[in-house]
Amino acid sequence: MRVLALLLLLAVSALGKRFFNGDQVLRVQVEAEEQVQLLQALEDHLAWEVDFWIHPVSAGRPVEVRVGHASLSGVKEYLQTNNIRFYVMINDLQELLDEQEAEMEESESRNVNYNFGAYQKLETIYRWMDTLVSEHPNLVTKFSTGGTKRPAIWIDTGIHSREWIATDYGTDASLTSLLNTMDIYMLLLANPDGYSYSHTNDRMWRKTRSRNSGSRCRGVDPNRNWDAGFGGPGSSRNPCSDSYHGTSAHSEVEVRNVVNLIKAHGNFKSFISIHAFSQLLMYPYGYTCQDIPDKAELESVGRAAVQKLTSLYGTTYKVGNICKIIYQASGGSIDWSYNAGIKYSYAFELRDTGRYGFLLPANQIIPTASETWLALKHIMEHVRDHPY
Ligand SMILES: [Zn+2]
Repeated sequence: MRVLALLLLLAVSALGKRFFNGDQVLRVQVEAEEQVQLLQALEDHLAWEVDFWIHPVSAGRPVEVRVGHASLSGVKEYLQTNNIRFYVMINDLQELLDEQEAEMEESESRNVNYNFGAYQKLETIYRWMDTLVSEHPNLVTKFSTGGTKRPAIWIDTGIHSREWIATDYGTDASLTSLLNTMDIYMLLLANPDGYSYSHTNDRMWRKTRSRNSGSRCRGVDPNRNWDAGFGGPGSSRNPCSDSYHGTSAHSEVEVRNVVNLIKAHGNFKSFISIHAFSQLLMYPYGYTCQDIPDKAELESVGRAAVQKLTSLYGTTYKVGNICKIIYQASGGSIDWSYNAGIKYSYAFELRDTGRYGFLLPANQIIPTASETWLALKHIMEHVRDHPY
């Protein structure tokens, strides 16, 4: 029986899917500044498999980290010896993944049409997009080029592939009816290869899938690849890192195509990038902690937007610039868009605050989309009413 189970496991592994059996997600309480440094040191500990879901920033801010099963005893001992308190948030990651996968398959078998209450595969989302276009040809075009350029708003989702909730968002049909004066460009899957790979092979995949010459590791962090403080703090030169910035700014086709489209268009007024998780609404900058000239306006619009969001289910959000609210991170998309003259540049980190993290249960998709929509609508209305 054991041998059989092992063989079965090997057979599945041969298909290339990564397993997380025995991996745990730890919630760490950071009580003092020196603990921040100790946790950051953990990040650079090459022998241990640690994947920070919430990075250590400052005392009083919780940290969340996925620890590979083989590294668990070492990491826990390290935390204990340094008097850093933690508890186990997810006891066996694979168990949770199995549950969610079973749920996905079940929903797939039940639904003929698109199910907004479930996470979907790349092909299913593409099929839904085509249906949407064919059913509403006057409202939706799969791509519009040429002609005069009305003021426009950019929304992208899913640039980090493992943030599945951020890819299902944006399916609200009333998006199409809001604006008579502006165009909305929605890139529903900003990193399709990575998204697909996070379904088929590695649920924790974040980067693109491009090859890195001279390294066995693949992929570039597409949100460290923009020409805004490129290569600076909060990005890595190591191709194996999850925050690898790539060989040069805009080296990734996923980034380059967006840059080219936005430059060629020339009339974008807002650029909104949707991520997960942490419940934050952020504005530039990430690559520096210096305030932007439009800080006061972006802060107040952000606060009002979040108020609308909270009004639906009471979900609380924090508002602030990336550098102060998460950590200094260089080469991010909204820093680039802001520096390119697009004033209303925002990034969302959707639900939750870490109970499930990237593995947000599918029954939260629709509530998340509904509440986020209220915030988005507020920002878009503000953009419409404040031409510049
Ligand atoms: Zn992200």
